[in-house]
Amino acid sequence: MSAVARSRPETAAITIVGGGIMAATLAYQLARRGIGEVVVLERETVASGSIGRATGGLRQQFADELDIIFAHEGLHFYQRFIAEMQAETALAAPPPPPFYQYGYLFLVSNNERWRAMQGYVALQRRLGVPTELLTPEEVVARWPGLRLVTEDLCGATFCPTDGYTDPAAMTRALLGTARRLGVSVYEHSPVVAIQVARGRVQAVETPQRRLLTPLVINATGAYAALTARLAGINDLPVYPLRRQLYLCEAVPGLPQALPMVVDQATGLHFRWREGDLLVGLPHSPSPDEEAASLALAPTAFDLTLDPAVWSQIKQAIAHRFPALAGLHLRRAWAGLYEMTPDEHPILGPTEVEGFLCACGFSGHGFMHAPLAAQLLIDYITTGKSSALDIALFSLQRFREGRLLPATRLL
Ligand SMILES: Cc1cc2nc3c(=O)[nH]c(=O)nc-3n(C[C@H](O)[C@H](O)[C@H](O)COP(=O)(O)OP(=O)(O)OC[C@H]3O[C@@H](n4cnc5c(N)ncnc54)[C@H](O)[C@@H]3O)c2cc1C
Repeated sequence: MSAVARSRPETAAITIVGGGIMAATLAYQLARRGIGEVVVLERETVASGSIGRATGGLRQQFADELDIIFAHEGLHFYQRFIAEMQAETALAAPPPPPFYQYGYLFLVSNNERWRAMQGYVALQRRLGVPTELLTPEEVVARWPGLRLVTEDLCGATFCPTDGYTDPAAMTRALLGTARRLGVSVYEHSPVVAIQVARGRVQAVETPQRRLLTPLVINATGAYAALTARLAGINDLPVYPLRRQLYLCEAVPGLPQALPMVVDQATGLHFRWREGDLLVGLPHSPSPDEEAASLALAPTAFDLTLDPAVWSQIKQAIAHRFPALAGLHLRRAWAGLYEMTPDEHPILGPTEVEGFLCACGFSGHGFMHAPLAAQLLIDYITTGKSSALDIALFSLQRFREGRLLPATRLL
């Protein structure tokens, strides 16, 4: 008889698998709504997955309505949480990290892109996001310390209410509050089995415990497809995509209130991080890497750095940001995006009753998790969701070829 089978079974009304930002926003909102017997199972430590490796950007500048709505709500959620925690000093909890609301600045140097961006900005403004269109001269006048090369710039978009924060610290703060409100959070607890009988979830198992539970939420980020297999679902389309970030020494002369600056042509982006400069550049995977990702091969989850990216960063800097020439690297790391075919999340029920999806944020999970959690909790408690129809994000859409529209800004 195994150690797990020998130990006394425990119970949970809702079991959240994963200890990242999706789990944190879910656990926190469930607890705030007074829903009890919630358990979070994280296989390593809280925020050890993608969220602990993320940039922490909160931007509402997207090209399609759904992304804008998710991001707009996400940003307001974090602002409310920060304010609430600051007010609740009696809990003696460490306050959450500050939100650096310095905006996001997209620099655009392609005429066709610039025309498209103007359309996206009109859409953002219709949805309540105050994005502005700037001429190259206005960009130089507002941030002279950036010392931009502007010859080939068509213009820029700037949303002053965008910004960034520390995503791992935010995850820990949310789960810390959830814990104080009664949620059980177990670290070093990988879910290794999900028991399903007569089409319904019955229990989950970790090496330490067997948890009887009618509801399991798959919030395992880039590993979501592997977790779904434990419940007998073999076609959850969530694939890992490696992304790299570089922490560099501060560059003198850059403005203190530096927005997240994004050079749209190359994808180069940077912002301050505790006195250093955090720099990233999305690179394309090779055909072999793409095939490994679609096959969920072990190599696709590898976090070894691709050395070519640093050279691409230096090239992009040389073209646009002479002030950043000679950037001195402190350290670099890789993390995984969790891509779906239409780059929108997968939320809600599956054919296994009681097994719900909360995954597939395609690199936008920090921004999008708060509204995703709200939709799921609405669904769990009332059978439908209020802000948006959760059925839009069903797993079934991929099986039926009803993909959602999505347009990348980068
Ligand atoms: C370099 C980089 C930059 C990014 N920048 C941004 C950004 O600026 N803004 C933004 O919105 N998003 C950004 N993202 C994306 C964001 O980090 C993800 O979308 C987000 O973390 C997804 O949250 P999650 O909770 O679903 O997954 P994760 O944060 O990955 O958490 C999933 C957790 O599940 C755990 N787990 C896996 N399998 C099991 C199991 N069997 N049992 C128990 N636990 C398990 C993992 O250990 C992990 O801790 C970035 C990502 C990367 C890599």
